[in-house]
Amino acid sequence: MAKLPLALASLVLVLGSASCGSSPIPSASQSLEPTPSPTAAPTPDALAPAIVTQEPGEGGLLDASGVTVTFSEPVRGVDGASFQLTLDDGVIGALVSLDPSGRAATLVPSAILSFASSYTVTLTGLVHDLAGNRLARTSWNLATTNRVSFAPGAYTGYQFGDSPSHLAALKRSTLGSLSTATASAWQTIDGAGYLLVDTGIWAGYWVHGEPDGTAQDDVTAPVPALPACDYVDLPAMRVGYGQWGTTVLDTVFQLPGGYAPGDLLDTSQAGLNGSFFIRAIAVQDLGAMIDAATAAGAHLAVQSAYRSYTGQVLTFNGWVSEVGYAEALKTSARPGHSEHQLGTAIDFKTVGGIAPWRYADWATSTEGAWLAANAWKFGWVMSYPKGTSAVSCYRYEPWHYRYVGRTTAAAVHESGATLREWLWAQGYGVR
Ligand SMILES: [Zn+2]
Repeated sequence: MAKLPLALASLVLVLGSASCGSSPIPSASQSLEPTPSPTAAPTPDALAPAIVTQEPGEGGLLDASGVTVTFSEPVRGVDGASFQLTLDDGVIGALVSLDPSGRAATLVPSAILSFASSYTVTLTGLVHDLAGNRLARTSWNLATTNRVSFAPGAYTGYQFGDSPSHLAALKRSTLGSLSTATASAWQTIDGAGYLLVDTGIWAGYWVHGEPDGTAQDDVTAPVPALPACDYVDLPAMRVGYGQWGTTVLDTVFQLPGGYAPGDLLDTSQAGLNGSFFIRAIAVQDLGAMIDAATAAGAHLAVQSAYRSYTGQVLTFNGWVSEVGYAEALKTSARPGHSEHQLGTAIDFKTVGGIAPWRYADWATSTEGAWLAANAWKFGWVMSYPKGTSAVSCYRYEPWHYRYVGRTTAAAVHESGATLREWLWAQGYGVR
């Protein structure tokens, strides 16, 4: 570049000073300065081209109108192979067009867009400026309008035959605790709106919902009366490993034989005697509870914790041989019916003490009394309180506590009901 004449450079400096710090405004005389030498090559721009605008922006909703990108300078290499729209685990096509200036590109996704929940828009290949610098940034994330939002609540899913009808639902199931999924279709069936869930284990089910992807709590199904404590075997609802806090287990409902949580940890990790196991999700609150109990002079130990289905066979048979079948039913769960199989139940005892059921009432001991008063604060509830056998289905067990999390435990405590009654009232036993 030609040097600025010294006098003119001084003038620019003076003008700059006179403008009180703002940028000097080019004067008309500056346009008359010497032109660059015609032999000088364009100076290579060392800066990578940037994406100046993108519509929709990061996290925005992608729809059939596609994506438009503008660049900070002309780019090359933008063609059908240079842009791709990629799914979480695959690639779908996109029609790509670059405007004549090279500064804007449009990507229009193919029709299967509606089957994905989120997209990463990726600029692949050699997208570069005229000096050969690659794009500084090559991808960003977008969502789609077909994400289904589940508010906390109980959901019912429906599977329909060839001609969807609420009355002709082939299958009606509890969907349990859901957060997000995607739906590929929405329609009204018998006057109610439904979304077709198409991801996760509930793919293929319809749930009540709106075309904006908002699923609705199923308030149409009333909760039936609490069943009597019959000795039967019905499959329990909500037996997903993430539903540990809401599974209703009693003499009626049972877990599958193969139900065995994969996150069991030794109870020593919560400051207790070891060689017993509890699910990881309970360990932190268990440790906090034991610390608080110890500080209060209550010295707790584990009598029993997780028991597998086959472990419960041994336990139940042991009681049968000791007290007979009829008596065993009242104090021990038949295989599949035990909260111990959930991995979230513990039978406590006093450190160095005998089995808690050998006491006239272990709740009158320092340890039993402390738990009865305080366990709920740490997410634990006594499953079978005194005088509740008709609704809890088992004899009073002041040593048996189940972890349900602090929120649920506080709600159960507040209600004054047994855990079984409370869970059932929420509808967890039936959906
Ligand atoms: Zn127990």
